[in-house]
Amino acid sequence: MKEDIKELAEDVIMSTYSRIPIAIEKGFGCRLWDISGKEYIDFVAGIAVCNMGHCHPKVVDALIKQAQKLFHVSNLYYTKPQAKLAAWLTERSFADRVFFCNSGAEANEAAIKLARRFFRERGEKKRFRIISALMSFHGRTMATLSATGQDKIKHGFDPLLEGFDFVPFNDIRAIEKILGPDHCAVLLEPVQGEGGVVCPDPSYLKAVRELCDKTGTLLILDEIQTGLGRTGKLFAHEHFSIKPDIMTLAKALGNGLPIGATLATEKVARGFGPGAHASTFGGTPIITAASLATLRALEEEGAAENAANLGNYFKDRLILLKERYNHLIKDVRGMGFLIGMELDAPAGPISSACMERGFLVNTVQDKILRFIPPLIIKKKDIDALTECLDEIFKVF
Ligand code: PLP
Repeated sequence: MKEDIKELAEDVIMSTYSRIPIAIEKGFGCRLWDISGKEYIDFVAGIAVCNMGHCHPKVVDALIKQAQKLFHVSNLYYTKPQAKLAAWLTERSFADRVFFCNSGAEANEAAIKLARRFFRERGEKKRFRIISALMSFHGRTMATLSATGQDKIKHGFDPLLEGFDFVPFNDIRAIEKILGPDHCAVLLEPVQGEGGVVCPDPSYLKAVRELCDKTGTLLILDEIQTGLGRTGKLFAHEHFSIKPDIMTLAKALGNGLPIGATLATEKVARGFGPGAHASTFGGTPIITAASLATLRALEEEGAAENAANLGNYFKDRLILLKERYNHLIKDVRGMGFLIGMELDAPAGPISSACMERGFLVNTVQDKILRFIPPLIIKKKDIDALTECLDEIFKVF
């Protein structure tokens, strides 16, 4: 077996990712260390996952305590952490009920099934189509891939699932034009993350909500990336003063542990009866105990407020860089700590230069730097990164 961990991984792991050439060994808060001991300030957070930073002591503590008690019993039985986590989420959202699963794709898969089943149970058999947005991303299972509005991701997997129609994001007329009696739902991300950090006009989601109400269509919001404080509010749709019928969460829900959730109103949730949908590991006590500790910490430490306040500060600093390097930086956009900087050149070399200087920064859609740090990041770390970017842009 090869000693070099990167070489070993290249030999034995399917190459579904173009990996960045460092092997990470440990993390704490907003810091990561690679196997050579080099320290990095993390502006990726496991792709918007570790909202409370790495190895948050309260999450670690909850995990250890639960590990000494019970890992798993299946959903044939009630468990305290699962019920309490569902109650935490329903008390703070539009939703009355939660279905737990293990990932974002699974949460969206359940949302798609629930929307179809809801109408089927009401005898509306033809109502199965879903309107989704171009440049959206909803996951990699066959149904969520079918719902995703990016051809490059779907390439080679056809035939995909039938029943998805695509419209440009942020274009209410486009939905009005195609929404018909065979549509069961409109599925949107409040801010498109993988599509390149695309924010809608303030009135867009409200108009979609009104259109859905008028036609009896369900509104599904995919808050897998935007949810749980990332955009400066617990859920991004709160910025737009609307409520969905179904919402999906994952990523930050476990602060790094695998969990997804599909939330719905009482009326819609009735679409799923016993046996309609299931997951062996969904909502298992070990993960839900850690998730509950994550959410309590998120609230106690004012993480969403930090994302709102420091997110604005961060964006302003990036806008100053845009003014300085306007030949290279085309746009700076985003909400809270979901910020994109669109360049007029590939973003990869800038991200690599950041890494060499001890900062991890993500790229998306080739030319966009995406900043998605833990929500607990401090002003001094933001200052350090913007100064580093300034140095890098000077020589590019
Ligand atoms: N939906 C959105 C908006 C996402 O950003 C992602 C992942 O990036 C997913 C769904 C899929 O989540 P997962 O990778 O956990 O299946």
